[in-house]
Amino acid sequence: MARYTGPVCKVCRREGEKLYLKANRCSTQKCALERRNYPAGEHGHRRRKISDYALQLREKQKLRRMYGVLEKQFRIYRDRASRQRGVTGGILLQFLERRLDNVVFRVGFCPSRPSARQMVTHGHFLVNGRKVNIPSYMVSADDVVEARTKESTKKWIEGMLGTADRRPVPEWLSVDFENYKVKVVRLPKREEIAVTVDESSVVELYSK
Ligand code: SF4
Repeated sequence: MARYTGPVCKVCRREGEKLYLKANRCSTQKCALERRNYPAGEHGHRRRKISDYALQLREKQKLRRMYGVLEKQFRIYRDRASRQRGVTGGILLQFLERRLDNVVFRVGFCPSRPSARQMVTHGHFLVNGRKVNIPSYMVSADDVVEARTKESTKKWIEGMLGTADRRPVPEWLSVDFENYKVKVVRLPKREEIAVTVDESSVVELYSK
């Protein structure tokens, strides 16, 4: 389960967009993008002519980095999506959105996807009553994700839910905040996936 371990704010600066990889800091003035909204490095300020290929590449990198997926796994998602019936870009987004770490993040149990990934890896969540510690586990309709009964897990989530800026829960998930349980009502629709990425560009990039 490899993951990116470099400086995350540099990634946002490269993409020119907040990818919310650092929990509460992302919504404050301390966010690196608020202070230096240009790519890091000596030539970060330079204006570049952007080709179509570069635009598609940036869209792909943004999406990959947002969900914390490395290239190899991203390609696997893309290949699987292209074998399914329907719009490949939409299915690809759906795959990413159905990741267990994303579900835990979306309902507000964790402040960012990287922290959700860590919580899942450390075995703090059950899916249909069984411990699952694989962040890329893909949830399906009618699955129930719940926090383990461990005191430390509940305290952590309680603290998270108590923060003022609770994010809205998408309609495809139904949450029982009393018992820290999430039910997957159905699979997410494109309009419910809050990412500002042109997924058709990503698909086009791979078809070259
Ligand atoms: Fe990105 Fe958050 Fe760093 Fe801002 S604080 S640059 S949103 S990771």
